[in-house]
Amino acid sequence: MSDSIALKAYGKLNLLLDIVGKRHDGYHTLKSVFQSVSVYDLVEVELIDNKEIVIECDDESVPTDNRNLVWKACDAFFESTGIDFNGVKITIEKNIPSMAGMAGGSADCAATLVALNVLFETNLSETQLCDIGEKLGADVPFCIVGGTVLCEGIGEILTPLPDLEDCYFTVAKPEVSISTPECYKKFDNMIITEKPKTDDMIASLVVGDIKGVADCLYNSLEYPADCDEIRCLKEKMLENDALGSMMTGSGSAVFGIFDNKRDAKKCAKELEDDYSFCKVVKPVSAGVEILDYNL
Ligand code: ATP
Repeated sequence: MSDSIALKAYGKLNLLLDIVGKRHDGYHTLKSVFQSVSVYDLVEVELIDNKEIVIECDDESVPTDNRNLVWKACDAFFESTGIDFNGVKITIEKNIPSMAGMAGGSADCAATLVALNVLFETNLSETQLCDIGEKLGADVPFCIVGGTVLCEGIGEILTPLPDLEDCYFTVAKPEVSISTPECYKKFDNMIITEKPKTDDMIASLVVGDIKGVADCLYNSLEYPADCDEIRCLKEKMLENDALGSMMTGSGSAVFGIFDNKRDAKKCAKELEDDYSFCKVVKPVSAGVEILDYNL
C-alpha cells in the first residue's frame, strides 16, 4: 500500500477583524479573532514514484498548477527541511467556497504541511510548521493551529482563546466577489469612526457569552467592500433571528450567529434558494484533522 494520509482542512470565520496599521513593506497589520468552523475540504496527500507534484481537485475553478497553495506548501516543505524532492499527489475535495473570506486555499495549504510532516516523519513542531506557512499566506499559521484564536501582526502572532461552545453559524455567499487587494487599498483612503470592541469580544469568549460575542462582531473591511448584496444578506440574517451578522475576511461570505441550532437551520432554510452556498456550521477546535493514514 502507498504512503498516504487524508485530512480535514477546516474553513474559518472572522468574528472580529480590525486593521490596526500598515508595515513599511505594505502589509496591513491586524487584530483579529479567527474561528475555525465545521465546513472542510478533504485533502489526501500521497507519495508517488514520479518526481512531480500532481494536484487533482473536483472544483474546476481551482488551479492545479504552481498557483495552488498546496503546490507552494510542497515546495516550501522540501526547501526548508532539506529533504530531497519526492513525488507527491494531492487530491482536494472542495467544500469551502472560494473567494469567500473563509481561507479555503490557506486551509488546504496548512493540511498539506501537516500531512508532509507526518509522511516524512520530520517531527516539526506546530511553531516550525507555522514559520513555513507564514511565508505562503497570512492565514496559513492560523489554519495550522485552528480553534478560536486572536491573530495579530500580519497573522503570525497567535494567542489561543477558549473554545466557543453552544454556538451555530449560518453562512451564505452572494455571487459577488470582492478583490482583497482592492478592498485594502480602499480602506487606506477611508476614515472609519466605528471602533471595534476587541476587549469586550475576548471577555465574552472567556465566559462563553454568545450574545456578548454577537454584540462585538466587527470587520474593518466591510466599509471598503461597500456592497449592497452584503448589506442585504446581513439584514436577512437579522430578520431571521441571528443574534448578530458580519462579513468574514474580505468577503463575500456573510455569517449570522445563533445560540441554538434550530434558529440557525430555520434561517438557512429561508436563504438557501437564493444563495448557491448556504450552510449551518459550528465552531471546531482544530484547523486540520488527520482522518486516516497508510504508511
Ligand atoms: P481568504 O479567506 O484567505 O482571503 P478566500 O476565501 O478569499 O481566502 P480562497 O478560497 O483561498 O479565497 O481562494 C482564493 C484564490 O486562491 C482562488 O481564486 C484560487 O485561484 C487560489 N487558490 C490557490 N490554491 C487554492 C486552493 N487550494 N483552493 C482554493 N483556491 C486556491
